[in-house]
Amino acid sequence: MKYTSTRGDGKRISSAEAIVAGLAPDGGLYLPTSLPVFSRGELQMMLRLSYPQRAARVLSQFLTDYTLEELEDYTARTYNATKFGGNTPAPVRPLTEHANVLELYHGPTCAFKDFALQMLPLLLTGALKKIGETRTIVILTATSGDTGKAALEGFAGVDGTRIAVFYPEGGTSPIQRLQMTTQTGDNVMVYAVKGNFDDAQNGVKKIFSDAAFHQQVSDKGYLLSSANSINWGRLAPQIAYYVSGYCDLVSQERIAMGDPINVVVPTGNFGNILACYIAKCCGLPIGRLICASNENNVLTEFLKTGIYNRNRRFYTTASPSMDILVSSNLERLLYLMCNGNCKKVSGYMQKLNETGTYQIDDEMLARIHNEFSAGYADDEATLEMIHTMNSKYNYLMDTHTAVAFDVYRQYVQETGDPSTTLLVSTASPFKFPASVLNALGQSTSGDDFHQLDRLCEISGLQAPESLSTLRAKTERFTTVIPPEDMKVSIASWLNI
Ligand SMILES: *Cc1c(COP(=O)(O)O)cnc(C)c1O
Repeated sequence: MKYTSTRGDGKRISSAEAIVAGLAPDGGLYLPTSLPVFSRGELQMMLRLSYPQRAARVLSQFLTDYTLEELEDYTARTYNATKFGGNTPAPVRPLTEHANVLELYHGPTCAFKDFALQMLPLLLTGALKKIGETRTIVILTATSGDTGKAALEGFAGVDGTRIAVFYPEGGTSPIQRLQMTTQTGDNVMVYAVKGNFDDAQNGVKKIFSDAAFHQQVSDKGYLLSSANSINWGRLAPQIAYYVSGYCDLVSQERIAMGDPINVVVPTGNFGNILACYIAKCCGLPIGRLICASNENNVLTEFLKTGIYNRNRRFYTTASPSMDILVSSNLERLLYLMCNGNCKKVSGYMQKLNETGTYQIDDEMLARIHNEFSAGYADDEATLEMIHTMNSKYNYLMDTHTAVAFDVYRQYVQETGDPSTTLLVSTASPFKFPASVLNALGQSTSGDDFHQLDRLCEISGLQAPESLSTLRAKTERFTTVIPPEDMKVSIASWLNI
Protein backbone atom coordinates (compact mmCIF):
# COMPACT_ATOMS: atom_id res chain seq x y z
CA MET A 1 0.00 0.00 0.00
CA LYS A 2 1.31 3.42 -0.98
CA TYR A 3 0.83 6.82 0.62
CA THR A 4 0.44 10.23 -0.92
CA SER A 5 0.21 13.82 0.33
CA THR A 6 -3.14 15.59 0.61
CA ARG A 7 -1.54 18.52 -1.21
CA GLY A 8 -0.36 16.32 -4.03
CA ASP A 9 3.33 16.53 -4.74
CA GLY A 10 2.40 13.39 -6.68
CA LYS A 11 5.04 11.26 -5.01
CA ARG A 12 3.94 7.89 -3.69
CA ILE A 13 5.81 6.57 -0.71
CA SER A 14 5.68 3.51 1.53
CA SER A 15 4.05 3.34 4.94
CA ALA A 16 7.48 3.24 6.60
CA GLU A 17 8.54 6.39 4.77
CA ALA A 18 5.28 8.14 5.69
CA ILE A 19 5.79 7.31 9.36
CA VAL A 20 9.37 8.57 9.35
CA ALA A 21 8.45 11.77 7.52
CA GLY A 22 5.37 12.75 9.57
CA LEU A 23 4.41 15.78 7.50
CA ALA A 24 4.83 15.73 3.69
CA PRO A 25 7.44 18.12 2.23
CA ASP A 26 4.65 20.11 0.52
CA GLY A 27 3.04 20.73 3.91
CA GLY A 28 0.30 18.15 3.32
CA LEU A 29 -0.59 15.05 5.34
CA TYR A 30 -0.13 11.47 4.20
CA LEU A 31 -3.04 9.18 3.37
CA PRO A 32 -3.19 5.75 1.75
CA THR A 33 -3.85 5.92 -2.00
CA SER A 34 -6.51 3.23 -1.57
CA LEU A 35 -8.25 1.82 1.48
CA PRO A 36 -8.41 -1.81 2.59
CA VAL A 37 -11.72 -3.57 3.20
CA PHE A 38 -12.65 -5.18 6.52
CA SER A 39 -15.01 -7.90 5.32
CA ARG A 40 -17.84 -9.27 7.44
CA GLY A 41 -15.91 -12.56 7.62
CA GLU A 42 -12.79 -10.79 8.85
CA LEU A 43 -14.79 -8.95 11.54
CA GLN A 44 -16.51 -12.20 12.51
CA MET A 45 -13.12 -13.87 12.87
CA MET A 46 -11.84 -11.01 15.02
CA LEU A 47 -14.55 -11.64 17.62
CA ARG A 48 -12.38 -14.44 18.96
CA LEU A 49 -9.19 -12.42 19.11
CA SER A 50 -7.62 -10.41 21.92
CA TYR A 51 -7.14 -6.66 21.57
CA PRO A 52 -3.45 -6.92 20.57
CA GLN A 53 -4.30 -9.50 17.91
CA ARG A 54 -7.15 -7.40 16.54
CA ALA A 55 -4.94 -4.33 16.45
CA ALA A 56 -2.17 -6.21 14.63
CA ARG A 57 -4.61 -7.40 11.95
CA VAL A 58 -6.03 -3.92 11.43
CA LEU A 59 -2.57 -2.36 11.29
CA SER A 60 -1.31 -4.97 8.86
CA GLN A 61 -3.90 -3.77 6.32
CA PHE A 62 -2.44 -0.27 6.37
CA LEU A 63 1.23 -0.74 7.23
CA THR A 64 2.23 -3.19 4.52
CA ASP A 65 5.97 -2.70 5.07
CA TYR A 66 5.65 -4.60 8.33
CA THR A 67 4.91 -8.30 8.53
CA LEU A 68 1.92 -9.48 10.56
CA GLU A 69 4.42 -11.14 12.93
CA GLU A 70 6.22 -7.85 13.51
CA LEU A 71 2.96 -6.06 14.18
CA GLU A 72 1.81 -8.85 16.49
CA ASP A 73 5.05 -8.44 18.39
CA TYR A 74 4.58 -4.64 18.62
CA THR A 75 0.95 -4.82 19.73
CA ALA A 76 1.71 -7.50 22.32
CA ARG A 77 4.49 -5.33 23.74
CA THR A 78 2.17 -2.31 23.78
CA TYR A 79 -1.38 -3.34 24.67
CA ASN A 80 -0.62 -5.49 27.69
CA ALA A 81 -1.75 -5.52 31.31
CA THR A 82 1.47 -3.85 32.52
CA LYS A 83 0.82 -0.78 30.41
CA PHE A 84 -2.96 -0.76 30.08
CA GLY A 85 -4.07 -2.64 33.19
CA GLY A 86 -7.03 -4.98 33.46
CA ASN A 87 -8.22 -7.61 31.01
CA THR A 88 -8.47 -5.52 27.92
CA PRO A 89 -6.99 -2.12 27.10
CA ALA A 90 -10.15 -0.70 25.48
CA PRO A 91 -13.18 -2.01 27.38
CA VAL A 92 -16.71 -1.31 26.17
CA ARG A 93 -19.12 -0.55 29.00
CA PRO A 94 -22.86 -0.59 28.40
CA LEU A 95 -24.43 2.36 30.20
CA THR A 96 -27.99 2.95 29.05
CA GLU A 97 -30.30 1.13 26.65
CA HIS A 98 -28.49 2.54 23.60
CA ALA A 99 -25.34 4.19 24.95
CA ASN A 100 -22.04 2.39 25.46
CA VAL A 101 -18.72 3.85 26.53
CA LEU A 102 -15.47 2.90 24.81
CA GLU A 103 -12.99 3.55 27.62
CA LEU A 104 -9.65 4.54 26.15
CA TYR A 105 -7.96 5.97 29.23
CA HIS A 106 -6.45 2.93 30.92
CA GLY A 107 -2.97 3.48 29.49
CA PRO A 108 0.13 4.82 31.28
CA THR A 109 -0.78 8.52 30.92
CA CYS A 110 -4.55 8.10 31.43
CA ALA A 111 -5.64 9.46 28.03
CA PHE A 112 -6.53 7.77 24.75
CA LYS A 113 -3.38 9.08 23.10
CA ASP A 114 -1.45 6.21 24.71
CA PHE A 115 -2.98 3.86 22.15
CA ALA A 116 -1.01 5.55 19.40
CA LEU A 117 1.95 6.93 21.29
CA GLN A 118 2.95 3.73 23.06
CA MET A 119 2.98 2.16 19.60
CA LEU A 120 4.60 4.93 17.54
CA PRO A 121 8.17 4.45 18.86
CA LEU A 122 8.05 0.79 17.79
CA LEU A 123 6.62 1.67 14.37
CA LEU A 124 9.11 4.48 13.93
CA THR A 125 12.27 2.65 14.99
CA GLY A 126 11.09 -0.31 12.89
CA ALA A 127 10.58 2.01 9.92
CA LEU A 128 14.04 3.56 10.30
CA LYS A 129 15.64 0.13 9.97
CA LYS A 130 13.46 -0.73 6.98
CA ILE A 131 14.43 2.34 5.01
CA GLY A 132 18.07 2.27 6.11
CA GLU A 133 17.90 5.57 7.96
CA THR A 134 20.74 6.02 10.43
CA ARG A 135 20.21 9.59 11.64
CA THR A 136 18.80 10.13 15.13
CA ILE A 137 15.12 10.97 14.97
CA VAL A 138 14.15 14.19 16.73
CA ILE A 139 10.47 14.26 17.60
CA LEU A 140 8.97 17.72 17.95
CA THR A 141 5.49 17.85 19.38
CA ALA A 142 3.01 20.56 20.25
CA THR A 143 0.51 19.55 22.89
CA SER A 144 -2.70 20.83 24.37
CA GLY A 145 -1.92 18.65 27.38
CA ASP A 146 -2.23 14.94 26.71
CA THR A 147 -0.16 14.35 23.57
CA GLY A 148 2.94 15.74 25.24
CA LYS A 149 2.98 13.35 28.15
CA ALA A 150 1.90 10.37 26.06
CA ALA A 151 4.67 11.08 23.55
CA LEU A 152 7.29 11.59 26.28
CA GLU A 153 6.24 8.36 27.95
CA GLY A 154 6.41 6.51 24.64
CA PHE A 155 9.79 7.83 23.51
CA ALA A 156 11.70 8.26 26.81
CA GLY A 157 14.80 6.11 26.69
CA VAL A 158 14.14 4.80 23.16
CA ASP A 159 17.48 4.40 21.37
CA GLY A 160 17.99 6.51 18.27
CA THR A 161 15.35 9.06 19.25
CA ARG A 162 15.11 12.39 21.05
CA ILE A 163 11.90 14.19 21.86
CA ALA A 164 10.93 17.78 22.66
CA VAL A 165 7.45 18.83 23.72
CA PHE A 166 5.90 22.32 23.64
CA TYR A 167 2.85 23.02 25.79
CA PRO A 168 0.93 26.28 26.22
CA GLU A 169 1.87 27.95 29.50
CA GLY A 170 -1.20 27.86 31.72
CA GLY A 171 -3.16 26.00 29.04
CA THR A 172 -3.11 22.56 30.66
CA SER A 173 -4.44 21.21 33.92
CA PRO A 174 -1.83 21.30 36.73
CA ILE A 175 -1.67 17.49 36.70
CA GLN A 176 -1.12 17.45 32.95
CA ARG A 177 1.72 19.95 33.37
CA LEU A 178 3.35 17.98 36.18
CA GLN A 179 3.11 14.79 34.14
CA MET A 180 5.31 16.45 31.54
CA THR A 181 7.69 18.49 33.66
CA THR A 182 8.60 15.50 35.85
CA GLN A 183 9.33 13.22 32.86
CA THR A 184 12.50 11.19 33.28
CA GLY A 185 14.91 10.14 30.53
CA ASP A 186 18.07 11.55 28.95
CA ASN A 187 16.54 12.07 25.51
CA VAL A 188 13.59 14.27 26.53
CA MET A 189 12.97 18.03 26.68
CA VAL A 190 9.89 20.04 27.67
CA TYR A 191 9.15 23.73 27.00
CA ALA A 192 6.26 25.92 28.12
CA VAL A 193 5.30 28.33 25.34
CA LYS A 194 3.84 31.78 26.03
CA GLY A 195 0.63 31.45 24.02
CA ASN A 196 -2.08 28.88 23.33
CA PHE A 197 -1.99 25.46 21.66
CA ASP A 198 -2.39 26.92 18.18
CA ASP A 199 0.69 29.09 18.77
CA ALA A 200 2.68 26.02 19.83
CA GLN A 201 1.39 23.92 16.91
CA ASN A 202 2.11 26.74 14.47
CA GLY A 203 5.63 27.04 15.80
CA VAL A 204 6.25 23.34 15.25
CA LYS A 205 4.75 23.52 11.75
CA LYS A 206 7.05 26.45 10.95
CA ILE A 207 10.11 24.49 12.05
CA PHE A 208 9.00 21.55 9.90
CA SER A 209 8.58 23.69 6.81
CA ASP A 210 11.99 25.36 7.27
CA ALA A 211 14.16 23.64 4.66
CA ALA A 212 17.34 25.35 5.81
CA PHE A 213 16.79 24.14 9.36
CA HIS A 214 16.18 20.58 8.15
CA GLN A 215 19.54 20.74 6.39
CA GLN A 216 21.23 22.22 9.45
CA VAL A 217 19.98 19.44 11.75
CA SER A 218 20.66 16.80 9.11
CA ASP A 219 24.30 17.92 8.89
CA LYS A 220 24.54 17.07 12.57
CA GLY A 221 23.02 13.63 12.11
CA TYR A 222 19.46 14.42 13.11
CA LEU A 223 16.16 13.95 11.32
CA LEU A 224 13.07 15.89 12.40
CA SER A 225 9.76 14.08 12.78
CA SER A 226 6.46 14.55 14.53
CA ALA A 227 4.40 12.64 17.05
CA ASN A 228 1.35 14.83 16.47
CA SER A 229 -1.66 13.28 14.83
CA ILE A 230 -0.44 14.62 11.51
CA ASN A 231 1.75 11.50 11.54
CA TRP A 232 0.06 8.50 9.92
CA GLY A 233 1.75 6.30 12.53
CA ARG A 234 -0.43 8.01 15.11
CA LEU A 235 -3.67 7.61 13.23
CA ALA A 236 -3.37 3.99 12.16
CA PRO A 237 -3.36 2.50 15.69
CA GLN A 238 -6.50 4.51 16.47
CA ILE A 239 -8.46 2.76 13.73
CA ALA A 240 -8.00 -0.50 15.63
CA TYR A 241 -10.02 0.44 18.70
CA TYR A 242 -13.07 1.27 16.65
CA VAL A 243 -12.92 -2.16 15.06
CA SER A 244 -12.38 -3.73 18.45
CA GLY A 245 -15.18 -1.70 20.04
CA TYR A 246 -17.55 -2.86 17.33
CA CYS A 247 -16.53 -6.50 17.88
CA ASP A 248 -17.11 -6.12 21.62
CA LEU A 249 -20.62 -4.76 21.05
CA VAL A 250 -21.34 -7.86 18.96
CA SER A 251 -19.80 -10.16 21.58
CA GLN A 252 -21.83 -8.50 24.32
CA GLU A 253 -24.94 -8.98 22.17
CA ARG A 254 -25.67 -5.26 22.19
CA ILE A 255 -25.88 -5.51 18.37
CA ALA A 256 -25.86 -8.22 15.72
CA MET A 257 -22.90 -8.46 13.34
CA GLY A 258 -23.53 -5.98 10.54
CA ASP A 259 -25.81 -3.61 12.47
CA PRO A 260 -24.68 -0.02 12.07
CA ILE A 261 -23.73 1.92 15.19
CA ASN A 262 -23.27 5.65 15.77
CA VAL A 263 -20.06 6.92 17.31
CA VAL A 264 -19.60 10.12 19.34
CA VAL A 265 -16.07 11.48 19.61
CA PRO A 266 -14.88 14.42 21.74
CA THR A 267 -12.78 16.23 19.18
CA GLY A 268 -9.90 18.70 19.01
CA ASN A 269 -7.39 18.12 16.25
CA PHE A 270 -9.86 15.83 14.41
CA GLY A 271 -7.48 12.84 14.61
CA ASN A 272 -9.57 10.48 16.68
CA ILE A 273 -12.80 10.99 14.75
CA LEU A 274 -10.93 10.78 11.45
CA ALA A 275 -9.62 7.36 12.44
CA CYS A 276 -13.25 6.38 13.03
CA TYR A 277 -14.27 7.70 9.61
CA ILE A 278 -11.47 5.73 7.97
CA ALA A 279 -12.70 2.61 9.78
CA LYS A 280 -16.12 3.31 8.30
CA CYS A 281 -14.65 3.79 4.82
CA CYS A 282 -13.05 0.35 5.20
CA GLY A 283 -16.44 -1.23 5.81
CA LEU A 284 -16.90 -1.10 9.59
CA PRO A 285 -20.68 -0.73 10.01
CA ILE A 286 -20.89 2.81 11.33
CA GLY A 287 -23.89 5.07 10.83
CA ARG A 288 -23.38 8.62 11.94
CA LEU A 289 -20.16 10.08 13.26
CA ILE A 290 -20.97 12.71 15.85
CA CYS A 291 -18.28 15.31 16.39
CA ALA A 292 -18.39 16.83 19.87
CA SER A 293 -16.63 20.12 20.62
CA ASN A 294 -16.36 22.41 23.61
CA GLU A 295 -16.88 26.15 23.42
CA ASN A 296 -14.09 26.31 20.86
CA ASN A 297 -16.72 25.17 18.39
CA VAL A 298 -14.99 25.89 15.11
CA LEU A 299 -15.65 22.30 13.96
CA THR A 300 -19.34 22.42 14.86
CA GLU A 301 -19.76 25.43 12.63
CA PHE A 302 -17.68 23.90 9.85
CA LEU A 303 -19.49 20.57 9.77
CA LYS A 304 -22.84 22.35 9.77
CA THR A 305 -22.15 25.22 7.34
CA GLY A 306 -19.01 24.30 5.37
CA ILE A 307 -17.31 27.47 6.58
CA TYR A 308 -14.11 27.10 8.55
CA ASN A 309 -13.26 30.26 10.43
CA ARG A 310 -10.47 30.35 12.95
CA ASN A 311 -10.84 34.11 13.45
CA ARG A 312 -12.71 33.92 16.70
CA ARG A 313 -12.20 34.17 20.40
CA PHE A 314 -10.14 31.37 21.93
CA TYR A 315 -11.63 29.93 25.13
CA THR A 316 -9.73 28.17 27.88
CA THR A 317 -12.22 25.49 28.94
CA ALA A 318 -12.62 22.64 31.40
CA SER A 319 -11.71 20.25 28.55
CA PRO A 320 -8.29 21.72 27.70
CA SER A 321 -7.21 18.94 25.33
CA MET A 322 -9.89 20.19 22.94
CA ASP A 323 -9.00 23.88 23.15
CA ILE A 324 -7.99 24.10 19.53
CA LEU A 325 -8.98 26.41 16.69
CA VAL A 326 -6.96 24.83 13.88
CA SER A 327 -7.74 21.13 13.55
CA SER A 328 -4.90 19.72 11.48
CA ASN A 329 -6.51 16.44 10.53
CA LEU A 330 -9.50 18.11 8.93
CA GLU A 331 -7.23 18.40 5.91
CA ARG A 332 -7.40 14.62 5.54
CA LEU A 333 -11.21 14.74 5.64
CA LEU A 334 -11.27 17.43 2.94
CA TYR A 335 -9.07 15.23 0.75
CA LEU A 336 -11.37 12.24 1.18
CA MET A 337 -14.50 14.35 0.63
CA CYS A 338 -13.32 15.72 -2.73
CA ASN A 339 -12.03 12.38 -4.05
CA GLY A 340 -8.40 13.33 -3.65
CA ASN A 341 -8.50 16.62 -5.51
CA CYS A 342 -5.19 17.92 -4.13
CA LYS A 343 -5.45 21.26 -5.89
CA LYS A 344 -8.69 21.95 -4.10
CA VAL A 345 -7.26 20.92 -0.71
CA SER A 346 -4.15 23.08 -1.24
CA GLY A 347 -6.39 26.01 -2.16
CA TYR A 348 -8.42 25.71 1.03
CA MET A 349 -5.30 25.38 3.14
CA GLN A 350 -3.71 28.38 1.49
CA LYS A 351 -6.83 30.42 2.20
CA LEU A 352 -6.78 29.26 5.82
CA ASN A 353 -3.18 30.32 6.07
CA GLU A 354 -3.69 33.72 4.51
CA THR A 355 -7.10 34.73 5.81
CA GLY A 356 -7.90 32.29 8.62
CA THR A 357 -11.01 31.07 6.85
CA TYR A 358 -12.28 29.06 3.85
CA GLN A 359 -15.56 27.68 2.58
CA ILE A 360 -15.92 24.28 0.92
CA ASP A 361 -18.25 23.76 -2.03
CA ASP A 362 -21.81 22.42 -1.74
CA GLU A 363 -20.96 18.99 -3.08
CA MET A 364 -18.36 18.40 -0.36
CA LEU A 365 -20.66 19.79 2.30
CA ALA A 366 -23.45 17.45 1.20
CA ARG A 367 -21.08 14.50 1.51
CA ILE A 368 -20.04 15.63 4.97
CA HIS A 369 -23.68 15.98 6.03
CA ASN A 370 -24.24 12.42 4.87
CA GLU A 371 -21.71 11.15 7.39
CA PHE A 372 -21.24 13.63 10.22
CA SER A 373 -23.31 15.39 12.83
CA ALA A 374 -21.82 17.99 15.13
CA GLY A 375 -22.52 19.83 18.32
CA TYR A 376 -20.83 21.49 21.24
CA ALA A 377 -21.16 21.81 24.99
CA ASP A 378 -20.03 24.73 27.12
CA ASP A 379 -18.41 24.21 30.53
CA GLU A 380 -21.69 24.52 32.39
CA ALA A 381 -23.34 21.77 30.35
CA THR A 382 -20.18 19.67 30.60
CA LEU A 383 -20.07 19.81 34.39
CA GLU A 384 -23.80 19.20 34.63
CA MET A 385 -23.39 16.05 32.54
CA ILE A 386 -20.65 14.76 34.87
CA HIS A 387 -23.01 15.29 37.77
CA THR A 388 -25.95 13.62 36.04
CA MET A 389 -24.06 10.54 34.90
CA ASN A 390 -22.54 10.11 38.33
CA SER A 391 -25.79 10.38 40.23
CA LYS A 392 -27.97 8.48 37.72
CA TYR A 393 -25.59 5.71 36.66
CA ASN A 394 -22.84 5.92 39.25
CA TYR A 395 -20.44 6.47 36.35
CA LEU A 396 -17.64 8.95 36.84
CA MET A 397 -16.37 10.62 33.68
CA ASP A 398 -13.86 13.31 32.80
CA THR A 399 -14.70 16.65 31.19
CA HIS A 400 -13.82 15.61 27.61
CA THR A 401 -16.01 12.53 27.80
CA ALA A 402 -18.78 14.65 29.29
CA VAL A 403 -18.65 16.96 26.27
CA ALA A 404 -19.34 13.91 24.11
CA PHE A 405 -22.21 12.83 26.35
CA ASP A 406 -23.86 16.23 26.26
CA VAL A 407 -23.57 16.46 22.49
CA TYR A 408 -25.04 12.95 22.25
CA ARG A 409 -27.93 14.05 24.49
CA GLN A 410 -28.58 17.01 22.19
CA TYR A 411 -28.33 14.79 19.09
CA VAL A 412 -30.87 12.29 20.41
CA GLN A 413 -33.17 15.10 21.48
CA GLU A 414 -33.05 16.63 18.00
CA THR A 415 -33.22 13.46 15.91
CA GLY A 416 -34.76 10.76 18.09
CA ASP A 417 -32.18 8.42 16.54
CA PRO A 418 -32.37 5.16 18.56
CA SER A 419 -29.17 3.62 17.13
CA THR A 420 -26.82 1.78 19.41
CA THR A 421 -24.07 4.27 20.07
CA LEU A 422 -20.44 4.10 21.12
CA LEU A 423 -19.30 7.15 23.09
CA VAL A 424 -15.56 7.54 23.20
CA SER A 425 -14.14 8.25 26.65
CA THR A 426 -10.78 9.88 26.13
CA ALA A 427 -9.39 10.61 29.60
CA SER A 428 -9.52 9.48 33.21
CA PRO A 429 -11.60 11.72 35.50
CA PHE A 430 -8.59 11.77 37.84
CA LYS A 431 -6.66 13.80 35.30
CA PHE A 432 -9.00 16.74 35.89
CA PRO A 433 -9.90 16.45 39.59
CA ALA A 434 -10.77 20.14 40.14
CA SER A 435 -13.35 20.23 37.36
CA VAL A 436 -14.82 16.88 38.32
CA LEU A 437 -15.11 17.84 42.01
CA ASN A 438 -16.66 21.11 40.97
CA ALA A 439 -19.20 19.22 38.86
CA LEU A 440 -20.08 17.01 41.80
CA GLY A 441 -20.68 20.06 43.99
CA GLN A 442 -17.62 19.31 46.13
CA SER A 443 -15.03 21.70 47.48
CA THR A 444 -12.01 22.22 45.25
CA SER A 445 -9.80 23.64 47.98
CA GLY A 446 -6.19 22.60 48.28
CA ASP A 447 -3.76 21.60 45.55
CA ASP A 448 -4.27 19.02 42.81
CA PHE A 449 -3.22 16.11 45.00
CA HIS A 450 -5.54 17.18 47.76
CA GLN A 451 -8.27 17.19 45.12
CA LEU A 452 -7.17 13.82 43.82
CA ASP A 453 -7.49 12.36 47.31
CA ARG A 454 -10.90 13.92 47.80
CA LEU A 455 -12.12 12.55 44.47
CA CYS A 456 -10.98 9.06 45.52
CA GLU A 457 -12.77 9.44 48.81
CA ILE A 458 -16.13 10.50 47.45
CA SER A 459 -16.10 8.19 44.40
CA GLY A 460 -14.78 5.15 46.21
CA LEU A 461 -12.44 4.65 43.22
CA GLN A 462 -8.69 4.46 43.25
CA ALA A 463 -6.70 7.09 41.38
CA PRO A 464 -4.39 5.69 38.71
CA GLU A 465 -0.96 5.12 40.22
CA SER A 466 0.80 7.14 37.53
CA LEU A 467 -1.12 10.20 38.74
CA SER A 468 -1.02 9.70 42.50
CA THR A 469 2.74 9.12 42.47
CA LEU A 470 3.34 12.45 40.70
CA ARG A 471 3.34 14.25 44.03
CA ALA A 472 6.63 12.66 45.01
CA LYS A 473 8.41 13.60 41.78
CA THR A 474 10.57 16.65 41.12
CA GLU A 475 9.97 19.04 38.25
CA ARG A 476 12.86 18.87 35.80
CA PHE A 477 11.68 21.33 33.15
CA THR A 478 10.70 24.91 33.94
CA THR A 479 11.78 26.85 30.82
CA VAL A 480 9.19 29.25 29.38
CA ILE A 481 9.79 30.59 25.88
CA PRO A 482 7.95 32.85 23.43
CA PRO A 483 6.74 31.04 20.26
CA GLU A 484 9.32 32.84 18.10
CA ASP A 485 12.14 31.23 20.11
CA MET A 486 11.06 27.64 19.50
CA LYS A 487 13.54 27.05 16.69
CA VAL A 488 16.57 28.49 18.48
CA SER A 489 15.65 26.56 21.62
CA ILE A 490 15.68 23.32 19.65
CA ALA A 491 18.98 24.25 18.03
CA SER A 492 20.59 24.90 21.39
CA TRP A 493 19.10 21.73 22.93
CA LEU A 494 20.57 19.71 20.03
CA ASN A 495 23.82 21.59 20.33
CA ILE A 496 23.87 22.70 16.70
C1 LIG B 1 -6.38 14.85 22.39
C2 LIG B 1 -7.63 14.71 23.15
C3 LIG B 1 -8.89 14.89 22.55
C4 LIG B 1 -9.03 15.32 21.10
O1 LIG B 1 -8.63 14.33 20.19
P1 LIG B 1 -8.29 14.72 18.69
O2 LIG B 1 -7.77 13.49 18.06
O3 LIG B 1 -7.26 15.81 18.76
O4 LIG B 1 -9.55 15.21 18.07
C5 LIG B 1 -10.01 14.64 23.30
N1 LIG B 1 -9.92 14.28 24.60
C6 LIG B 1 -8.74 14.11 25.22
C7 LIG B 1 -8.72 13.72 26.65
C8 LIG B 1 -7.55 14.31 24.52
O5 LIG B 1 -6.38 14.13 25.13
